[in-house]
Amino acid sequence: MLLVETRNGKIIQIRLKYLLCVSLYYCVIKTIENTPMKTIIEPFKIKSVEPINFTTAAQRESLLQEAFYNPFFLHSKDVLIDFLTDSGTTAMSSKQWAGVMDGDEAYAGSKSYFLFENAVRDITGMKHIIPTHQGRAAEKILFSIVGGKGKYVPNNTHFDTTRANVEYSGAEAVDILCEVGKHPEQIADFKGNMDVDALVAFIEKVGKENIPLIMLTVTNNSGGGQPVSMANIRAVRNVCNAYGIPLFIDACRFAENAYFIKQREPEFAYTPIDEIVREMFGYADGCTMSAKKDGMVNTGGWIAMNNDDWAGKARNLLIITEGFTTYGGLARRDLEAIAQGLKEVLDENYLHYRIRSTQYFGEKLTNAGVPILMPTGGHAVYLDASRFASHIPTEQFPGQSIVCELYRHAGIRSVEIGSLMFGKYDEHGKHVAPPMELVRLAIPRRVYTQSHIDYCIEAIIEVYNSREQLRGMKLLYESEYLRHFTAHLSYV
Ligand SMILES: *Cc1c(COP(=O)(O)O)cnc(C)c1O
Repeated sequence: MLLVETRNGKIIQIRLKYLLCVSLYYCVIKTIENTPMKTIIEPFKIKSVEPINFTTAAQRESLLQEAFYNPFFLHSKDVLIDFLTDSGTTAMSSKQWAGVMDGDEAYAGSKSYFLFENAVRDITGMKHIIPTHQGRAAEKILFSIVGGKGKYVPNNTHFDTTRANVEYSGAEAVDILCEVGKHPEQIADFKGNMDVDALVAFIEKVGKENIPLIMLTVTNNSGGGQPVSMANIRAVRNVCNAYGIPLFIDACRFAENAYFIKQREPEFAYTPIDEIVREMFGYADGCTMSAKKDGMVNTGGWIAMNNDDWAGKARNLLIITEGFTTYGGLARRDLEAIAQGLKEVLDENYLHYRIRSTQYFGEKLTNAGVPILMPTGGHAVYLDASRFASHIPTEQFPGQSIVCELYRHAGIRSVEIGSLMFGKYDEHGKHVAPPMELVRLAIPRRVYTQSHIDYCIEAIIEVYNSREQLRGMKLLYESEYLRHFTAHLSYV
């Protein structure tokens, strides 16, 4: 019992029991107030909008026919939600646009170049920083220098342009992905890891002198946007040290990878993202980069390295094919936008939103029974086409059939990552399927809101529920390299 004097002089009695109840009530309210909300909100406001165009299913059917059932031939104005790629589709920030205006278009020695160089050196710590117009230009230059017949380039998984550039040089591109990374239904933290034992066995087999460099793709785009752990980067570095082979990072999604390391490797739970990024690059001798991904811009890239000899050759090739060393095929304003984008991509609020909203997309699909590659990676949700359209054999491109249906049904553009993209022929001309049949829904950075994503979730579930109507497809035309970009298809 407690005696309390009120303001008008009355004495009242309060039972301890009530006091306890009231204080408990306040504790609960305070705790709720301090708990972060469950709904992730986009960590930005919208300043400028771009209308999207609605079409009917009948219109989309004829548009698909005109596009030879290859969404790369669709006009973007006919696409409602464009998940074809997260490459160069980023919405730039007001600061980046301000930087574009402030770009110094000097051919040589532009201040925008030095801003870019400083920003890239700040995160990579590398000596030579060479701008290119895209990631593949960096790859072309790198493999023109180190590739060639009889050489092998191991990677956790080559991205399609990386593979093409390695092979175009005459060298062989070899994927050495950890076992768990090959199973879309298995959940693991770092499915992008290199299989280090297999890497060692491979080096012993072909000889270290035939391996100009080892590559690690972070995150592993073609393997489902899955991250590579710091432990794995260190282990690969040790192998590189043991054999005297340089390590290059295909760095396109370095910030997303760093965020996964922070979330999933206890050692880094309290390490700031920029420190994780610096440690990742610290193990590498060089990197190639498409700034169209974690550079947060619409075009650009770079190649960076410590080797003076290779850098000299790279600059020569750059001048022949891309442009002078202080712009590398880019408008200088683009370099300015990259410098700013590299700051924004390291913001943990941004990365949290980015990774969590991709997870949200995946969770809703999984809850509805739609088979996806688990767990969701950084930049995309991948439908597991082998299970989604299990009645279609790999040589009839199950993924492409889903891609076409998503567009026909809902105006969503996605891309097949399976037999169409990576299928090969054996010596008898028989189809050889890659390890996985996937459909990638890549999410442009800062472009779509949660309601766009909710719409797509509904549409995908509908297509899944009538999946037995999906039909197999066949190729009518294919090119020698990167055939998926220009292939013509029809239904079998
Ligand atoms: C996009 C990408 C590339 C190629 O970059 P571009 O800018 O498209 O030429 C290389 N590697 C990976 C992992 C990528 O995601």
